Amino acid sequence: MRAKMSARSIIKFTVDAFKVVIRNFIKPERITIYYPYERLEYGAVRGWIGLHVEKCTSCMMCARVCPANAIKMYLAPDGKRRPGIDYGRCIMCHFCIDTCPADALYSTEIKDLAFYSYDSMVFTPDREKEPPRVEELRKPVEVIVDYVRGTPRKLKVARS
Ligand code: SF4
Ligand code: SF4
Repeated sequence: MRAKMSARSIIKFTVDAFKVVIRNFIKPERITIYYPYERLEYGAVRGWIGLHVEKCTSCMMCARVCPANAIKMYLAPDGKRRPGIDYGRCIMCHFCIDTCPADALYSTEIKDLAFYSYDSMVFTPDREKEPPRVEELRKPVEVIVDYVRGTPRKLKVARS
């Protein structure tokens, strides 16, 4: 059974709705961004993982600890096995980096990764050596976003 709204509630809801309209008309709050010309800065997001091949001891601990089964060991020409990462599976937990006893794996600031095919998401040790090039079409505008309240809120726009 539908509950009846009082006239007072209807007036209150209508006034509130108009307040939102007027506020957004005077000072629009934009949540979407014009990617890639603008970027979100996610402080807590972990980045692409690099590999110092010369440090790797082939212990395979990274592959064992990976909860997403994203690491596969590849045979190198020198007879040793080195890790490659499938970014189609990787959840960016960085357990592999934390576990590596030789500091062979490291984190980077590269957080924007896009791929054209599934094959290109698989980084063999050779590809893992060099961070992928992130193309900058224009000077990016950095949009800092506060996620503390669960809603993106633009704090400042810094032009580089
Ligand atoms: S970051 Fe996590 S999911 Fe990705 S390869 Fe390392 S351990 Fe696996
Ligand atoms: S990257 Fe680190 S954890 Fe993985 S095989 Fe090499 S030394 Fe072991």
